[in-house]
This record gives sequence, C-alpha cells and structure tokens, in this order.
Amino acid sequence: MRVTKEIPFIDIAEQRTRLKDSIDQSIKRVLDHGQFINGPEVAQLEVELGFFSDSKHVVSCASGTDALLMVLMAKGVGAGDAVICPSFTFCATAEVVVLVGATPIFVDVNEETFNIDPVSLKQGIALAKQLGLQAKAVIPVDLFGQAADHHGIEEVAAAEGLFVLDDAAQSFGASCDGRRLGTFGLATTTSFFPAKPLGCYGDGGAIFTNDAELASLLRSIRVHGQGAGKYDNVRIGLTARLDTIQAAILLEKLKIFDDEVEARQSVARRYTDALRDVVSVPHVVSGNRSVWAQYTIRLPQELDRKNFMEGLKTFNIPTMIYYERPMHQQTAYRGYPKLESGLPVSEALSKRVVSLPMHPYLDRATQDYIIEVIRRYVLQQGDNAPA
Ligand SMILES: *Cc1c(COP(=O)(O)O)cnc(C)c1O
Repeated sequence: MRVTKEIPFIDIAEQRTRLKDSIDQSIKRVLDHGQFINGPEVAQLEVELGFFSDSKHVVSCASGTDALLMVLMAKGVGAGDAVICPSFTFCATAEVVVLVGATPIFVDVNEETFNIDPVSLKQGIALAKQLGLQAKAVIPVDLFGQAADHHGIEEVAAAEGLFVLDDAAQSFGASCDGRRLGTFGLATTTSFFPAKPLGCYGDGGAIFTNDAELASLLRSIRVHGQGAGKYDNVRIGLTARLDTIQAAILLEKLKIFDDEVEARQSVARRYTDALRDVVSVPHVVSGNRSVWAQYTIRLPQELDRKNFMEGLKTFNIPTMIYYERPMHQQTAYRGYPKLESGLPVSEALSKRVVSLPMHPYLDRATQDYIIEVIRRYVLQQGDNAPA
C-alpha cells in the first residue's frame, strides 16, 4: 500500500489547475491596463472582503505582518507600553510589538484549542503593571484556523482598558457563534501568504475594522503617512500596499473559497473520526467553525515525535511541527517578560504537536492511506511499549 509519489503537505498546484484560465485572464487584464499600484482590482477586493467578513472597512496591505504593524502604529503604541501575546504562535505576532518600541508580554494558551487563555491574559496584564508598563493591547491569535475565545478575551480586555487586535492570519473565513472573524475587537488582520487558507501568489494581507477613523489612519500609513495630497506627509508611514496583480488573483480565489473551506471541513472530519482513539485530535469549540489552516494532532506522551515523523516520511507522508519552540524560548524573544509561573502549556504543546497534510484537494484514497499508516504506527508502538 506504499505510495511512491510524495504527498503534498499543502497542495497549491491542484488549485492552480482548477483556476488556471480565470487567473491567467485576470492577470492578463492587469498587464493590459498597467495600473500595477492601486489598480481597480484592489478597491474591488476590499469591497468583496468587506461583504465576506461583514466588516465595514477593509484596508488591504502588503503582508499579514504589515497589517499588524500598521494597527499598532495607528494606535500610537510605543515605548512604555505592553502588548500581551500568546507564546504559542508564529513570530510575527510579537515581532510587530518590538518594532514599534513596545514590550511584548508572553502568556499561555489553552491546551485543547491552542489559543490564548483569558486567565493567563489577565495575569499578563497584572505583570505589565508590576513592571511599570502600560498594558495597551492584546493580540489574540486564531491559531490553525480556529477562532480564539473572543468573548472571554473581550471581557478581560474591556475591564482593563486594552484594545483587541485579532491576528487571524491563519483563519480568514473562520467563525464564532455564526459571526465571521473580522468584527471581533478593534481590528482584525489576515495574511494572504500562499500557504494560508486564502493565499495569493506572493505576499499580501488585509485589515478589517468597523472604526472609520482607524481605517482612514491605516490608509494614510499604508502610503508613507500621506495627508491630503500625494506629497503631503502628515505622519510616519510605510510602503505597504497590496499589488494589483495579487488583488486580481485573490478575487478569483475568493469565488471558490467557501467551497474549499467546505472541502477542508470534510478532510478534518474524516481525520478526526479515524484517529481520535489513537492520538489527541484537534478540539473545535462548540459554536466555532474552523477553516483548518492546519490539522494538528498531539501525540501520546510515550510516542517519540521524531521517530513518528521519520516513520511517516518513509511512507512518503510529510508532516510539520507548528511550533517547535514557543516565542518566549526563541533567541530573539527570550529577554521579554513572561508570566513568572511559566508557560507550561505552550512548552508542553511544542514538544507533542504534529501537523498532518491538510488542503481542500486531499482525496479520500490518499487520506485513507495516511490514516492507515498513522494508526498502524501508533498501535504498533503501543504494543512495543513497556507494560
Ligand atoms: C503567517 C502569519 C503572520 C504573518 O503573515 P505574513 O503575511 O507572512 O506577514 C502573522 N501571524 C500569524 C499567526 C501567522 O501565521
């Protein structure tokens, strides 16, 4: 039952085949009209994304990292301020805090959802005060495709006067109680990096907000802090626009996005049904709908992760570790504050998580094969384990 061809971890080629003509045509339209910056597709995409997320204002930009950075710049977050971040995330979440001169404070996550724990958030705010810092914001991350506990986060943030900047880089399209991400907190950001659920063919990102004043500040920051005229600079900004070609590509991909998320749902359901008795499968909170950026399992304590991954590799099954090292243990971030009680969940997760191949074009036969190899591997190891 060995497959000889390497199974892709994320399949971008299959989608390319499906959309070939429509994307080729949309790119050609941009090449023909020649408005590579601020072309009509950019404005059109912002309108479509607004409809999709039910958010009043959408500001597209050059990456998910710029999106986060621009909001912190617009809110004037800087030296003396603290921003609370989960430790179990991709580095960009905390990187932008350091870039504006503020201090990231790392807190822990929930073991079942991988997302920021509101109790830990509260402790992080207390730590900021102890350190003489002003806690200005929290950046919850909707990790692996699932919304964070936005009700719990909002309650703590509101009581303490923090604004919420939701990092939905991996979770565009996910929902919580029937409400899509994009309207929780002051602003939500996402990334269109090719491997994200809605990816373009390069870098891209967007910011969603219902705050008109913030949206207009963001539009200024996006182009060098532009004022009324092109060469009127009223604040410090960036050059952080989304290319017209990327917007044109995203417009085509958005048309099939719901369908792709549906396909990811059924892949996830099948994994969960077939693997729940041998590994810890991801937990989707009731009321949440994940877009399954990753399907991340937790291995049983007695199973060696390196051997597991190498074992699967010999069957041409690729796996990845997100994330092998929590932020507070990364070289560049070790010096920033974290809870004194430690961040045991983030540390434990980083040792046990493994992400399986996940994409909308994972066919049943290939998935059955992956499931069978994993089941055999875990059960066999179980037989060999000391009683
Ligand atoms: C990918 C990612 C980002 C950054 O997005 P880019 O578009 O690559 O800059 C930020 N936060 C999280 C959680 C991510 O996964």
